[in-house]
Amino acid sequence: MQAQKNNAAKTVMEEQYQFTITDKPVKIVQSENGTTYTLLINRAIDDANTFENLVIKYENDGSINATIINYQPFYPLNTMNYFTGTAFNGLQSVTPIVYNDALVSTTGKISSDCYSVCTILCHDLTESGPYSVPHPPGSSCTGNNVTIDCVVTCWGDNIGGEDAGNDIGTADNTSGGGTDSSNNSGSVSTPPNNCGNCNNPIETAPVLELGEEEETLPKKACEELNKMINKPIGNATPPKTVLTNLNDLKSNVTTNKERMYIMSPTLDSFGNINHNLYNENYAESAENQDYVGSDFGGIIIDIMVHTHWNTAKHLSIFSLDDIYDIYKKIASGQISLENQNYFTTMVITAHGTQYALKFSNIHDFVAWGNNYFLGWDVAMSNPNQASPFKEAKEDKFYDDTGIKLGNTPEIKATNELGWASFIETNDLGLELYRVNDTFTQFTKLSTTLMGGLKETPCTN
Ligand SMILES: [Zn+2]
Repeated sequence: MQAQKNNAAKTVMEEQYQFTITDKPVKIVQSENGTTYTLLINRAIDDANTFENLVIKYENDGSINATIINYQPFYPLNTMNYFTGTAFNGLQSVTPIVYNDALVSTTGKISSDCYSVCTILCHDLTESGPYSVPHPPGSSCTGNNVTIDCVVTCWGDNIGGEDAGNDIGTADNTSGGGTDSSNNSGSVSTPPNNCGNCNNPIETAPVLELGEEEETLPKKACEELNKMINKPIGNATPPKTVLTNLNDLKSNVTTNKERMYIMSPTLDSFGNINHNLYNENYAESAENQDYVGSDFGGIIIDIMVHTHWNTAKHLSIFSLDDIYDIYKKIASGQISLENQNYFTTMVITAHGTQYALKFSNIHDFVAWGNNYFLGWDVAMSNPNQASPFKEAKEDKFYDDTGIKLGNTPEIKATNELGWASFIETNDLGLELYRVNDTFTQFTKLSTTLMGGLKETPCTN
């Protein structure tokens, strides 16, 4: 199922090459020469036997390269057979595209270009289920389970032939040169005549079309918020609840570090996920720091709460980075269709405000994020420098919404309205709630037809 996207939200690139970026979570690969985003794309007329990925690489030198990889699995109806060993089990072709709105000539010199496509797979195999075979890495894959397998394919081979010409055979690595065999028989042709691009391979973790996760039934956000605070924390002595952790952050909110709790579901004795008993992880930043890394590995996250401890340096409400954090945790599988209804992120501020976010539609959220957050986290050669793509988005966001630093009642009200209207205008698939002092009352914030703030309290 794909979320419908209106044309206004389409990028120039989607319009030009006639595809749509879907709402499947992005896969992000960082390596020493850049950051690669892999996204599933759809065509208006869909070929059921193939799937396509848009692969965008932000190079360390500031340039951007984009390609579309077409995958034609030998067994399209069974994702269990999509990968054998370390490689894709089927035919692949690569089409270079222009990332920005400049027009490209798709004839002439570009047609002889070849690419080294490196497929990243995870081998943290379980005995049964989808993870009994190699698969694109998800939440729990650690470094030593990952394989990278590179093969060379030439874009020019696409022209004028049946599928045989543009397909990948069985090359194992880039040093083996190009392969041009028509199937998996292992025959190898001469190396490609132009592989300048092979020094800079496309590293991609494929995003599949099939293999949807189980989706839990939608629940009322208010109901979940009201239940959430009384859930027990299993790995704490003496025993406590979610509310204990919220009060702990609140009583320390003006100390000079950012603090964070992450609460995760436990497993019951049958190995089922239990969303009514949590384990906690706590982290705090160094003194006077604004960011606490919330990476606790591949654990599932139901509740994520952090503080904004300085009224001069931090917002009275969520920042755009806080939203990116949600997006990234979907990409890593820590938030998924399985726990979307339980997922709550909260901020507790030194301004005396506290807010919560819930999903109203996680598909809308991912579809929005797949466009909005492209390039957000690209590695810069100077590690203290933010990505220019992120800076441009942030400038526009704070200009458009009026959200700003400050601790006056007027600024706090502007920030609430700014977020509520941004969420609605852009179909973020999120709901914003104001939380009272004792964490016992949640009030949904949205906008009225006249553009004012609408407050809808949750009933108990
Ligand atoms: Zn924050």
